[in-house]
Amino acid sequence: MSDCIFCKIIDGEIASERVYEDDDVFAFRDLNAQAPLHILIIPKMHIASINDLDTSNADTIGKLYIAAKKIAVEEGYADKGYRVVMNCGEDAGQTVFHLHLHLLAGRPLSWPPG
Ligand code: 5GP
Ligand code: ZN
Repeated sequence: MSDCIFCKIIDGEIASERVYEDDDVFAFRDLNAQAPLHILIIPKMHIASINDLDTSNADTIGKLYIAAKKIAVEEGYADKGYRVVMNCGEDAGQTVFHLHLHLLAGRPLSWPPG
């Protein structure tokens, strides 16, 4: 999508601090980190939100979670713990409509979330 900021990040049109990439997945540090580790993990394919998923996307979604685990291990947070969350829609706080997992770690994360 030409007007999508995360598609532009994947293409390198917008700079980002990349931490992981493979054929299907791209991951980079959040510009406005909410924890010592805050990574966004996105599919290279433009999908706007969870509402747009169907079974044809199942492999891609699985790969986002596998990438999250790899990054958590590499960054040293696998044992201490981390949170992986995906917001969908306005009430959940989704602001960028290119599907993304947030990987958060490095501080105690309260539950329930705000
Ligand atoms: P959402 O609120 O949609 O779940 O999360 C969008 C996230 O994208 C926010 O945490 C925000 O800080 C991050 N973000 C928005 N624009 C950019 C950008 O241009 N670069 C980076 N690295 N993060 C961004
Ligand atoms: Zn996009």
